[in-house]
Amino acid sequence: MKEKHLPISKRLKTIATYLSQGSYFLDVGSDHAYLPCYVCQHDHKAQAIAGEINEGPFYSAKQTVEKYGLSNRIDVRLGDGLDVLNDSDAPFELVIAGMGGTLIKKILGRGHQLLTHFKRIIVQPNIDERDARIALLRLGYTITHEHLIKENGHIYEIIVADFINSKEMEKWAEKDLLLGRQLQFERHPLFIEKWQSEHRARARILSQMKRAKKKNDEKMARFERELSWIEEVLDYE
Ligand code: SAM
Repeated sequence: MKEKHLPISKRLKTIATYLSQGSYFLDVGSDHAYLPCYVCQHDHKAQAIAGEINEGPFYSAKQTVEKYGLSNRIDVRLGDGLDVLNDSDAPFELVIAGMGGTLIKKILGRGHQLLTHFKRIIVQPNIDERDARIALLRLGYTITHEHLIKENGHIYEIIVADFINSKEMEKWAEKDLLLGRQLQFERHPLFIEKWQSEHRARARILSQMKRAKKKNDEKMARFERELSWIEEVLDYE
């Protein structure tokens, strides 16, 4: 029997709002395939490929898709990042959510030849958002939306990028890559909360680095630079 209601987080629901109507998308690192199932339940024309590198989540994804009767619209595949795609596949949107920005950058970098297939890429890095931005910009995408949400005490960034086939990387200052351009402009209360907390964490690490016997001058200089950008944006005296 088909189950009706899918348990899905506010974070994944927000990501879903950035997919187009009738989307055909690849969800890399789909885990339980909650996002593809939710999207296909709410959009009868949507289709998805749910990619997973690990067997445990791959079987969980298969189970969810069967449980909700969506096997004809969601193809669950085992593989690393974009390797799950075949020449005949034509998903036009890509989601990579719930992992670190450095891993997102690695997945995008490895699959760079396939990336022009995607009109839109939506990423949700748990940390190291700067790496995710760099990867998108290097690949000819422009960042069209930056969104913050808070769930279970954690603030998440959702970054949406559209393909423009132009390298915008040099137009981005280091500070913007770290903090996000739209996010700085909007100054949402969650942005302030996030960067107040990041400021405290960086200041603590910097003071530990200063007390250490063996000093890493380059790393300390980077932390000092980042602290000054954060202070600027938070209007600290
Ligand atoms: N995307 C879901 C979400 O946002 O809730 C699940 C996030 S879960 C924390 C990360 C998933 O990515 C894990 O199931 C992991 O096995 C998978 N993963 C990690 N590296 C991957 C890769 N290179 N290719 C495909 N899946 C990957």
